[in-house]
Amino acid sequence: MKARASASPIRDERTMLDAFEGIRRAQFNGRYAPHKPLLLLLALSRVQRAAPRMARFTEIEPELRTLLIEFGPSHSASKGNFPFWHLGTDHQGALWQLEGPPAVLERPAGATPNLGELRAHDVRGGFSREVYGLLTRNPTLLRDVAGRVLRAFFPASIHDDIIAAVGLDLEAHGEAATPDAGARRRDPGFREKVLRAYELRCCVCGFDLRIGSLPAGLEAAHIQWHHVGGPDVVPNGLALCSLHHKLFDLGVFTIEETERRVVFSQHAIDGARGLAGELRHHGQPMLPPQDPAYAPDRRFLAWNWSNVFKRPERRLAVASP
Ligand SMILES: [Zn+2]
Repeated sequence: MKARASASPIRDERTMLDAFEGIRRAQFNGRYAPHKPLLLLLALSRVQRAAPRMARFTEIEPELRTLLIEFGPSHSASKGNFPFWHLGTDHQGALWQLEGPPAVLERPAGATPNLGELRAHDVRGGFSREVYGLLTRNPTLLRDVAGRVLRAFFPASIHDDIIAAVGLDLEAHGEAATPDAGARRRDPGFREKVLRAYELRCCVCGFDLRIGSLPAGLEAAHIQWHHVGGPDVVPNGLALCSLHHKLFDLGVFTIEETERRVVFSQHAIDGARGLAGELRHHGQPMLPPQDPAYAPDRRFLAWNWSNVFKRPERRLAVASP
């Protein structure tokens, strides 16, 4: 096992940020390619989760593949070898380091090993020691870098999806004062568990479009918001399409506690579309999760009702006995 030497070590935060910035410039010379940024975000998330610095390609590959299918252009799913390999040549390996047999590492940068070769030769990759050190010592810096990568490569409308998919937590938890004391990390599995509980469909409108096998435009919403104490548990989650997630967070509708019906606000006025518009969902029971144990907890629904929902509510028909 050999590690490729890095020529220009990263010494401080400034040179590190320049190195991330350099990736952006290099990519914008050619055509837009989200492969490297997605791998970087995944790697940043691993650092945040205290995973070992170096990871086997085979360990990273499944997650990277899923990210490329969901957020990359067509045909990018089978190209996970490219960012894994080519990040190692940016800044002569000062940012991303590769380890593996010399026969592989000593290839010219352009002779990208294919997926099978990376797997078979047990090639490992990860941030260089300097970068890993800077990121682990300074959680704020890690979030700053992740935010820059997100903003440089992806539209704001999908930032939350990407953050959730890679399992990053970009919220400050006061770790500058006391690392991890009372910190509430996001559970990277929250989205997946909630979407599965609702069988990959919006619980208001049933939206269930998929790209291949992956849901698109479907999100896991917190009923009690995470940043004000809502836990990452399925009974505090709803699977909602992007539109209904937005409307829910704006307090346009909520789910009432008793029969879990969708209730719209009197402030929501549905223009000219009448019954074809959003208000057709008013008074309808939400689509239930596959197991009643996953259903929204009353405590969280009550929190949403008093803290987010724009009261007063539209009148509900009396429930049938
Ligand atoms: Zn929906």
